[in-house]
Amino acid sequence: MNDLLTGLNEPQRQAVEHSGSPLLIVAGAGSGKTRVLTHRIGHLLAERGAHPGEILAITFTNKAAAEMRERVDALVGPRSRAMWVLTFHSACLRILRREAHRLGWKSSFTIYDTDDARRLLTQIVKDLGLDSKKQSPRWFAAEISRLKNELIGPEQAAAKADDARGKLVADVYAQYDERLRLAQAVDFDDIIGSTVHLFQAFPEVAKSYRMRFRHVMVDEYQDTNHAQYTLVRELVGTGDDRAELCVVGDADQSIYAFRGATIRNIIEFERDFPDAKTILLEQNYRSTQTILDAANGVIRNNTERGREKRLWSDEGPGGRILGHTGDNEHDEAAWVANRIDELVDAGETSFGDSAIFYRTNAQSRAFEEVFVRRGIPYKVVGGVRFYERREVRDMLAYLKLTANPDDTVSAMRVVNTPKRGVGDRAVAEVEALAARLRISFPAALHRIDEAPGVSGRARTGIKRFCEILDEATALAQTAPPEEVLDKLIADTGYLEGLEQSTDPRDEGRVENLQELVAVAHEFTEAVVRGTTDAEFEETGEADLTADVPSFLEHVALVSDADSIPDPEAEEGGVVTLMTLHTAKGLEFDTVFLTGLDDGLFPHERSMNKPGDMEEERRLAYVGLTRARKHLHLTRAGTRNIFGQPEYYAASRFLAEIPGDLIEWSESAPPPRVVKSKSTANFGSPIVMRNAADIPSLDVGDRVTHDKWGLGRVVELKGSGPRAQARIDFGDGEPKWVILRLAPVSKL
Ligand code: ATP
Ligand code: MG
Repeated sequence: MNDLLTGLNEPQRQAVEHSGSPLLIVAGAGSGKTRVLTHRIGHLLAERGAHPGEILAITFTNKAAAEMRERVDALVGPRSRAMWVLTFHSACLRILRREAHRLGWKSSFTIYDTDDARRLLTQIVKDLGLDSKKQSPRWFAAEISRLKNELIGPEQAAAKADDARGKLVADVYAQYDERLRLAQAVDFDDIIGSTVHLFQAFPEVAKSYRMRFRHVMVDEYQDTNHAQYTLVRELVGTGDDRAELCVVGDADQSIYAFRGATIRNIIEFERDFPDAKTILLEQNYRSTQTILDAANGVIRNNTERGREKRLWSDEGPGGRILGHTGDNEHDEAAWVANRIDELVDAGETSFGDSAIFYRTNAQSRAFEEVFVRRGIPYKVVGGVRFYERREVRDMLAYLKLTANPDDTVSAMRVVNTPKRGVGDRAVAEVEALAARLRISFPAALHRIDEAPGVSGRARTGIKRFCEILDEATALAQTAPPEEVLDKLIADTGYLEGLEQSTDPRDEGRVENLQELVAVAHEFTEAVVRGTTDAEFEETGEADLTADVPSFLEHVALVSDADSIPDPEAEEGGVVTLMTLHTAKGLEFDTVFLTGLDDGLFPHERSMNKPGDMEEERRLAYVGLTRARKHLHLTRAGTRNIFGQPEYYAASRFLAEIPGDLIEWSESAPPPRVVKSKSTANFGSPIVMRNAADIPSLDVGDRVTHDKWGLGRVVELKGSGPRAQARIDFGDGEPKWVILRLAPVSKL
């Protein structure tokens, strides 16, 4: 047997060797799905005579792509370079850049990220005279994204709309798309949708890619949405010339329903490819049996599940799961820090092999504070990311304008940053000019002389702005991105402004700009190294050049999970802090699943819809199954919310884990009596009730309140720790009370 097949069990080997019909591998966490994909690629190259250029492997994050490339590299050497191992977005972008002319686009089109798209929608909401409080740009963004993920265009959305809301969304959607086009820009969803459109409108283009990529593989298939699924089908084809397709996924790990991912994709797969072969993997190689039993105990409670799976492990039972209830979030974090120190000291784990997961980004702060104090090296994945910082976005806006002179959102962002006398009035004049001439906003800036209403000061500012851009654009034709950035930072006076500022935060901003130039420089170096590689040139992948558009593309695609620390960076590595969503596909020896407080995880928002609750439960399953050896479950019990202590009951997921698997510890009994500022309202310290003790009331129930006496319930809202009742005490307006706090009992 060759090397590529050793270290595989029987069904894994079958999956690696399978040829011809489409292959679907549905299997639980840690059963080697990703490993099968990697070995399959190796096998295709080594045994089936495939050329690396014929392989397209799609992963969920750039990080996962890099890892897969590395593993394949280890198997087949530098030939791996010619493969496309990319995320959906980066693969589509490569295709779109090459084929842009067919869609009538310039190949220098700009990518609008979430923030850019939001700005554009804010403008549209304003222009349409809508009330942004009632119909927020954020809401429109979500609605439009949902439509795009379903491949529904603005006209279709308008035709399908059967109420005023739907019509309004369709209207805003149409405006939004038109403005994107005028700005030569696409949003993230368009990257996928436009590629599908390209393939459907130009079958010969689809065919040429189908002939090129004879082997298509998709990891984390359960999280693809309809648009991505359609893309795969177009790419692979269903006729005689179809390519070989292999997808792997786990319905229990589908955690992107909010982005349109559905179980439907597995159903559609079996419908579109009736001869597909399905392979199940049941042996888990990652975790101990105890950890698997806990994960199974939780996921068992979902009704909407894929095929039945029985995961088992050969690793033995392993140690028990440790549980801890803190006094509050700081105590929870301190316990985690202690435990990490203890394990590292005992040589059981390293910092780099430890991870802390939480439901929401804000939870990282308590951990960070303790880690800094204790000197535990750590890294937060996500949060306020480098590329979201104001100064970085400002400079990138300038850079984007040198690549795409029609980029309206970027131009509006920086036309008066740093200040050069271009106020709202002048901007409005330019917008009017742009509308009159039917050109983009930045194009109108260049024709400012045709806008008579602009003041002399603003006119001078705008001319200076255009001059800076024109010079940088000229430089960008020949120079690498870091040089263009350097010039822009100097010419705009941006750096000077920061250096002269007395605001202490501006020092950090200067560092961030230096870091941005360094990132560009690193990018150039990497590209130069890559393209001088003979193999790389031979395969025609040299379209990655060290220029501004390629750099911008690189920046646009760097996702959350990509800032995971390089374990080599520091001896022993650093502890990783991340949300559960970014943890997908990863594994660590030591895992802390924190914040298991009902209302936080499962999140309060999911309490009212069974479907949402099932998604939260899948998220818990993903978290639990990341652990190899040491799993910890923690909660805070009491948390400070807006400066007030809030009491939480234990997460319902904890009750779903067989009790004998967990060994619990508590710092102290959870506080029942908490003094707080609002004491005055009640005349005595507030009694925080346990969730189980909150009176369960119906409208019409008679109750008694320690202070206000007898009353009758007239209305209810909220649930769990946030349940409230409106009670009529017969003395005027009925009063709202928080049931967890109010001294109310049912009669
Ligand atoms: P997830 O659902 O979390 O993405 P997965 O199914 O993709 O998990 P992998 O990450 O491929 O699982 O594998 C989990 C771990 O088990 C990895 O460390 C992998 O190297 C190991 N593994 C998988 N199959 C085998 C095998 N046959 N022999 C030894 N180790 C294996
Ligand atoms: Mg995997």
